[in-house]
Amino acid sequence: MKTEWQQQMRDYVDTIEKLETYINLSDSERKALETLQTTWGTTPYFASLMDRDDPNCPIRKQVIPSMHETENRFGMKDYLIWKENRATDEIRPDCIARQYKDRVAFTVTQVCGIYCRHCFRKELVVDKDLKLSFDVDEGLKWIAEHPEVRDILITGGDPFLLSDEQLDYLVSKLREIPHIQMIRFGSRLPVVLPQRITPGLLKVLGGYHRVPIWLNTQVNHPKEITEQTAKAVYDLLSSGVNVGNQAVLLKGINDDVETFRELHLKLLRVRIRPYYVFYCEPAPGMDHFRPRVEKGAELIRDALRGHTTGLAQPMYVIATNIGKIPLMPDYYIQDSTDTEYTLRNHLGQETTIPNVPE
Ligand SMILES: *Cc1c(COP(=O)(O)O)cnc(C)c1O
Ligand code: SF4
Repeated sequence: MKTEWQQQMRDYVDTIEKLETYINLSDSERKALETLQTTWGTTPYFASLMDRDDPNCPIRKQVIPSMHETENRFGMKDYLIWKENRATDEIRPDCIARQYKDRVAFTVTQVCGIYCRHCFRKELVVDKDLKLSFDVDEGLKWIAEHPEVRDILITGGDPFLLSDEQLDYLVSKLREIPHIQMIRFGSRLPVVLPQRITPGLLKVLGGYHRVPIWLNTQVNHPKEITEQTAKAVYDLLSSGVNVGNQAVLLKGINDDVETFRELHLKLLRVRIRPYYVFYCEPAPGMDHFRPRVEKGAELIRDALRGHTTGLAQPMYVIATNIGKIPLMPDYYIQDSTDTEYTLRNHLGQETTIPNVPE
């Protein structure tokens, strides 16, 4: 018998006919769906959150292809090869991407719960131009041979689409490696398929262990958070799995002060800790989603820092081939002399503290 989440994947919404049972397509959406050769789709659950009549619905824009994807002024060719350092001298299996000494990204599948139109791993996940082998045992062997690696970030695709048995194998094998101190998962399923957070999965991930499991999901707009997601997150936390968020800053979706603040407050209301907000990476075909580089720092300045709960503060980062580079709004320090620092707050008020010499 299929469980509810497996049934959702079987009823996957990836044809115009199925999509039309949820929404009234606009002419431009229909044109893109009929013209573009691209992988797209969503779970019936996530489709049911779409606005039936508004093509500007933030969920529609993340799921339904757009003709703008054919325009490409800023996207870099072979983006993922550059970004994931796949063209370097270090010999690594395809499934291991490395930017740091002590942690790596371990790609275990290229299947997703939705095919985000803004996905920076588009070449691998959406277009499937980049062919990689996802040999989990090869990855495990490489990790076991690299004692400097202490943190494994399991990614994809969406790793939670693996079966409980496959995940159990992966987690158990990683936990047997003495130098592994923590395991992280990146999964959108708590948002696009909360039914996946089953007792079986919680049994695999949960419980007290020397090697903890952390999860980062991706919520980009407050509308994506439902009671079902809230419950899935609660179940994960109750089992001992920490839950954070990695949003992507998307033009016309979450790049205004009001939406940006509401997103971060709503995350906290369902116990998700904001971790990163990412600049929309220069992968090809997503120029229409990309705000100015500084925009995320400005939104933290204007919507979050000082304006609301300190826990609601993600770090704004630009993910590059040399790692994630944080970008902070730069108004905090107004002046510094040999004797004092002048600091400014979110309301524009200034104060001074002594400058302590070394
Ligand atoms: C994002 C990423 C990490 C993890 O970075 P943190 O800042 O520690 O969250 C590790 N490796 C790669 C290749 C990454 O892209
Ligand atoms: S779920 Fe993640 S990997 Fe999959 S399409 Fe969306 S952003 Fe890309």
